Amino acid sequence: MKKIIPILFIVAILRPFNPLGAQVDQAEVERIITVLAADDMMGRQAFTPYADKAADFIAKEFKKAGLKKWNKMDSYLQTFPVYSFTVSNLDVTTDGEQFDQVFASTTQKSINWTQDSGVKNVVVGKDDDLRDVFSQYRRSGENAIIWVHSSQKQSFSRYASFASRGGRTLDVESPNTVVYILSDKAPKAYSIKMSATVETQNLSNVVGYIKGKRKDEYVLFSAHYDHIGIRRPVDQDSIANGANDDASGTTAVITLGEYFKKQGKPERSILFVAFTAEESGGYGSRYFSNQVDPEKIVAMFNIEMIGKPATDGPNSAWITGFDKSDFGQILQQSVEGTPYKFYADPYPSQNLFYRSDNATLARLGVPAHSISTTPIDVDPDYHQVSDEVETLNMAHLTNTINAIAAGAVRIISGKATPSRVDPAQIR
Ligand SMILES: [Zn+2]
Repeated sequence: MKKIIPILFIVAILRPFNPLGAQVDQAEVERIITVLAADDMMGRQAFTPYADKAADFIAKEFKKAGLKKWNKMDSYLQTFPVYSFTVSNLDVTTDGEQFDQVFASTTQKSINWTQDSGVKNVVVGKDDDLRDVFSQYRRSGENAIIWVHSSQKQSFSRYASFASRGGRTLDVESPNTVVYILSDKAPKAYSIKMSATVETQNLSNVVGYIKGKRKDEYVLFSAHYDHIGIRRPVDQDSIANGANDDASGTTAVITLGEYFKKQGKPERSILFVAFTAEESGGYGSRYFSNQVDPEKIVAMFNIEMIGKPATDGPNSAWITGFDKSDFGQILQQSVEGTPYKFYADPYPSQNLFYRSDNATLARLGVPAHSISTTPIDVDPDYHQVSDEVETLNMAHLTNTINAIAAGAVRIISGKATPSRVDPAQIR
């Protein structure tokens, strides 16, 4: 018996004291984030080969960690098409006279409308907010004809150039077109003809899985691996590396996969998802949410920008939409007695709950929240080419991953189940 004592001593000395229990290794965190945020990933922008390169790396890490492929998928990559529509021709005429200031945003190949087609007409007058109308119809999926007063010419041109980049959609089943015409009045009779070309591009989420005893109850850890690619150069650097946003969250998802795999078969199943295109339309989480029964997802830990300590100190992380379920309270209770604390998002005016992939799942009733630590109101590197690994605090990042693991334990073991989000309360 005596011999055991010195051995215990050595173990205690070598292992840093971690009151959170979970042991994710800082060197491993550094290894992964350094690859994801390297210059050769060129900012991991969706719809570029560099996003695919990042996805391949994450898939290899999932495999190495021993995660399973999910739901009869033959790959860790969940690949899906996005359809991109570009208007090639648009003619709007009244009494044989042509309007020359026109544009359309569309997800269909052609239209041929007249005043008798039953399409909604909207008038944007001198004092109306074109921005509101534009964003409303961008999301609504309705057909509409928008007559915009000529005094709004400047913003009209801005939206025209935005729309000329093309309309993307996941869903070709419900096509729609919105036509914008610069005109002081809406004529009673008109003809609108449009044709568009369509291009198909593939995107991929990366999905890993640990099957639990309760096979159909999922705890989901997610982060987006895409970023914003190449930007205007600053000091000869034009690569937006996205080390914090969101290589830090992606690194958390990978290392949490490694960690939970080592813990043996969990009570609940665990899904590890690296989303694509969070920065370019949210297509990754939107596609994923169509492939899963949201009722089966018990909780979604969406991890965003955890590489810099929060204003409240290094041992803290905040949770968006804290009052929308009791997810945050469960995490708080789970780390009670440790130096770490979870608290409500201190930047409600930033609408962060709606600015990441969690919102897509929350709209379906999932207790889906983002966990973050970066003081986003003052962060000089947010969406800049300066978002580099060197600006991050690796000890804090590792500590926060450990805290998330500790915060999740009672949910994974089935001892706690967050209340559902009420979709009626979500925009
Ligand atoms: Zn992000």
